[in-house]
Order: sequence, then structure tokens, then C-alpha cells
Amino acid sequence: MLESISQELEEQEIWHIRADDPFALTRVLNLPDMIVTGIEIEQTHQRVIVFCSHDFGVALCSQCNTISTKIHDYSRRCVRDMPWAARSCYIEFNARRFYCEKCKIPFREELQWLERCSRLTKRYQQSLFLQCHRTTLQAVHKKEKLGYKTLERLYYAQAQYQLRENPPTAIRKLGIDEFALKKGHNSFALALSDLEAGRIICVLPDRKKETLEAYFRTWSDLQRAHVTEAAMDLWEPYAQAVCAYLPNAKIVADRFHVMKNLNDAVTSARREIQRHLPEETKQTLKGCRWLLVRNHVDLSHADKEKLEAMFRRSCSLQQLHGFKEDFRALFEADLTPQEAKPKLEAWMSRVEASGLKALFKFVVTLKNRLEHILNYFHDRLTSGMVEGLNNKVKVIKRCAYGFGNFEHFMLRILMECDGST
Ligand SMILES: [Zn+2]
Repeated sequence: MLESISQELEEQEIWHIRADDPFALTRVLNLPDMIVTGIEIEQTHQRVIVFCSHDFGVALCSQCNTISTKIHDYSRRCVRDMPWAARSCYIEFNARRFYCEKCKIPFREELQWLERCSRLTKRYQQSLFLQCHRTTLQAVHKKEKLGYKTLERLYYAQAQYQLRENPPTAIRKLGIDEFALKKGHNSFALALSDLEAGRIICVLPDRKKETLEAYFRTWSDLQRAHVTEAAMDLWEPYAQAVCAYLPNAKIVADRFHVMKNLNDAVTSARREIQRHLPEETKQTLKGCRWLLVRNHVDLSHADKEKLEAMFRRSCSLQQLHGFKEDFRALFEADLTPQEAKPKLEAWMSRVEASGLKALFKFVVTLKNRLEHILNYFHDRLTSGMVEGLNNKVKVIKRCAYGFGNFEHFMLRILMECDGST
């Protein structure tokens, strides 16, 4: 009977059940090999208890696969299932042990829909996992009135299972990016991502070269040879690790990080300029940091006027702003690496000639990493996706009230940033 029901389910997408069909509830419950024999509704707890019996009186011995029809003993078992019409739902049935004539021992019957010692059906576990996805465990714990520890255990076990079932494939374009673990504590974790799939593939607990290299060693030679580009910020150790382990990877300095480095330099240069201005001019320039740093095209008309007023007070600030905007325009322009190179070099010469000392350090970085920066102009790869993920990470950290357990934190990030959105 059940076989025919499941066949029907596969064959047609819509199926009609008559209320007087003796198998109506069985069909609605839709648990393999189980027949609904009764339902109890507990009004006080808003619980539904579904009583089930087995459709078959046989089981396969787990040792020798022989069919057994001899029931050894059974015990009542009650497990939680998906809610039924807004009530929490429990399945009550006989958990059976059969006797194997061949092995001469009793064995427990395996059920497709329930793990051996679990108190929750597989499909309910899956549904809880999906609910936890993109919300908090705390929220699901409250909604489902389920023990927090139980839910936590379940979530991370399922996360590990998913990762095993769905391992990252060989990566061509690798993103390497750090994010702060604790603000202001100078402690960082490193996210590695498949930039084509938009998926974080690994989170490392720090940004040390040794840690990254140890991770690359877990890859096969083939995997390492497969990477053709690696986008990263200007932190030297990443480039060193990539050079050492990924023979075919072209290193691309991420343009957003390069811009950020420049903006930091612009901020120091502005401080330096302001220090030498008369006191009253200094006062009028208070709170103007972002006017300089923000992209000029994104400024409102009023802000542009403020900026012009600022330039009238200090031509050094105007010069500084000009350098920043020229540099940005260079990256916006549709240039080949060959075209970009002389332009960048000219920009560096102008900065050096300007005497704006606070920008010199940035120029040194540019010179050291010129090849990697120019690689950006090949096909404009950025690890920008990872930057977006930084926000997700922030949310995860906040939701979890800080993670004491790095493994859990990492799993959570891998689940949330799996490329599905
Ligand atoms: Zn057996």
C-alpha cells in the first residue's frame, strides 16, 4: 500500500485526498513505511501526538542483510516531527527489535526517517537547520521551544555534514581577506573564498603566513596548480604564501584595499597640513575628513561647496584631494596594465615632487607592489565579495553574542556565506 502511495507522490505533483480515505492521515504525514492509526490533540500544550504502526512486519539484519520476520521485542518511542497545523507534533510508535536466525542475535530495526538515538525526525532536524540559516539559533530555540543546547548540537552537526557532502571544488580565482575578530584588539581571522562561486571556503584563525601556508599544504598539487588568480590586500605575508604555494596564481592587489590605504594616507596628510594652519582656519576645517575621502561624484552640491571653501583656505588640501581623485580615476578608467603603468608612475612622481610627506609611504607601497596592482587591470578581479561578507560576519558575531568557540564561528560563516545568495 505504502509503496503505491509513494509512487503516486512521485508521479503527480498535486494529489487529492478524501477525508473518508482510511489512509488520508497517513498520506498527509508522509513518513516512509509508517501508517497513522490515531491522533491525540493535547489542548493544554498545543501538541499533536500521531500514533503510528509499521506498514511491514519485516526488517533486514544490519549484520548479514537477511530478512527477518521474527520480532524480538519492542518499546514505545516518541519523537518530535515537523509542526502540524501550528501545533508541535510528536510521532509515537513501537521501536522494534527483530531476531536474526542466521546471526542468532537480536537487532534494532533501522528507520529511513529517524536516526538511531535521535529524538527528532530527520526532516524536522533539516527544517530546524534551515530555520537557523540566516537567523539566530536563539530565535529558533524560542520559536520551536526546543532546548538551546540540543539545537546548537544539531545545527553544527548538520553544518559539518553539509560541508562534507558539498566540499569546495578546485578554485581558479581565490580571494584572501581578513576580518577583525574583536574590534580594536588587533586580532584578525582570514577568510579564503572562491570568487567565482561567491563562497567562503575556509576561515583561518589568524592572518599569519605560516597559518596560510599550512592551509595550502592541505591542498593537492592539482588544486594548487588550478589557481590562476589570487586577489588580496597589500599585506605582504599573503603574497609570500601565494608565491610559495600557488605556482600559477597571478597576485592581484585588491583595488578597494589599495583605495583604503590611500585614504588612510590622505587622512594623515590632512592632519599634517592642518597642523601648520593658523588656529582660526583649523577651527573652520573641523569635521571635514570625509569630504576629502569620499568619492567626489558622490558628494551633494552643498558638500561640494564646503569642499571648495576648504580649498580656498588651503591649497595643500586641494592638491591632496586632487591626488586622491586622480588615483581613483585611474582605477575607474578602462586601461590595460601597459597603459596603466606609465600613468601610475607619473602619479607617483607628482606626489613625490609635491612634498606631501604623509603620502610617501603609500608611494613606497605602490612601488613595491606595482606588479600586483597592475595585475588588477588584466581582468579587474577584486575580493570585493569578501568585503560584503564582512558585514555578514559582523551580524553573525552580534547574533552569537561573540563566539567563544572558533570552530562554531567558522562553521557558521561557512554556512552563511556558501554562495547560495
Ligand atoms: Zn543477521
